Amino acid sequence: MDKIVQGYWDCPYCGNKGISGLNKRCTACGHPQDEGTKFYMKEKKEYLDKEKAREYGKGADWTCSYCGSLNRYDAKVCVGCGADREESSGDYYENIENQKKEAEEKKREEQQLTGNQESKKEQGGIMKRLPLIIGLALLVAIIAFSCRSKGYAASVSEKSWERSISVEAYQTVKESDWNVPEGGRVYDEKEEIHHYDTVLSHYETVEVEKSRKVEDGYDTHTEYIDNGDGTFTEHEVQTPRYKTEYYTVEEERPVYKQVPQFSTKYYYEIEKWIPARTLDTSGDDEVPYWDESKLLENEREAGRNEIYILMFRTDKGKEYSVEVEQDFWDSLEVGEKVDLVVQYGEIKEINGTIIN
Ligand SMILES: [Zn+2]
Ligand SMILES: [Zn+2]
Repeated sequence: MDKIVQGYWDCPYCGNKGISGLNKRCTACGHPQDEGTKFYMKEKKEYLDKEKAREYGKGADWTCSYCGSLNRYDAKVCVGCGADREESSGDYYENIENQKKEAEEKKREEQQLTGNQESKKEQGGIMKRLPLIIGLALLVAIIAFSCRSKGYAASVSEKSWERSISVEAYQTVKESDWNVPEGGRVYDEKEEIHHYDTVLSHYETVEVEKSRKVEDGYDTHTEYIDNGDGTFTEHEVQTPRYKTEYYTVEEERPVYKQVPQFSTKYYYEIEKWIPARTLDTSGDDEVPYWDESKLLENEREAGRNEIYILMFRTDKGKEYSVEVEQDFWDSLEVGEKVDLVVQYGEIKEINGTIIN
């Protein structure tokens, strides 16, 4: 059963504290309850007797627009100035709401103020880090400078070349496959696993643990509602409590097996062109040549490959080598003076011709 609890208020006019909420005026100075009045309860709750309780918790006090006094919900005229209720709007709850808003506004303004101070601090931080930023920029510039391309006076110290002819031979080879290609001569065949099929074997019963929430009694706590008339209403609230319950169920699960599928594999001999050897030549002579030796009856040429290398020594004794086209290789003599451009240890230009 709900009970009515006695509320209290403080007089802002004379500082008198703990005045009964049932007193519309301060017991010390006679100042009426006003817009700033907020009711509270004492640690030890005091309940109104049944008869008195019947008069409370029926409606919040209304606020007089003229003098700000709080008046009982059923008062027709203001206790402070005698003004008519009809000419007033707003009540105790609205007063509390307004007070809350004002407090929030104040808090926001304070936060903005401290926020501004923080952003000023941050600017100071950037200024402090400036030497570090300049240092890093300098380091990057030094690295870029040391990696830039450099020019050298040099001379051709060596010329070399390599040439190679790939030779294929028509030969009998042994192979196996699920089909015999044209020209294949089968000498054996076997039943072998071609692939596996996934097949349903059977069902098995497994126990699966599950959980569910179930009600487990009630928690009771007491709530107090500010009636806005100098009293509070006490009532008990019950909230259900839950616990997790575990249980097992049986489930049927399919079990699969891998079944090998056999097929006939053919083993056969067949004639094919396959890489057999290479005819290599190399040297540092001025005139490169191919190894044009006669091929065997069952052989054929399958491609040619050639590489031309130039080596240089700079006036300071550093050596560089680079692969070039034959025309360019032909155009330079050993001992000839050249201008090199080198970057990251590689030759980029020779006598103004861009390499790579
Ligand atoms: Zn007072
Ligand atoms: Zn009034």
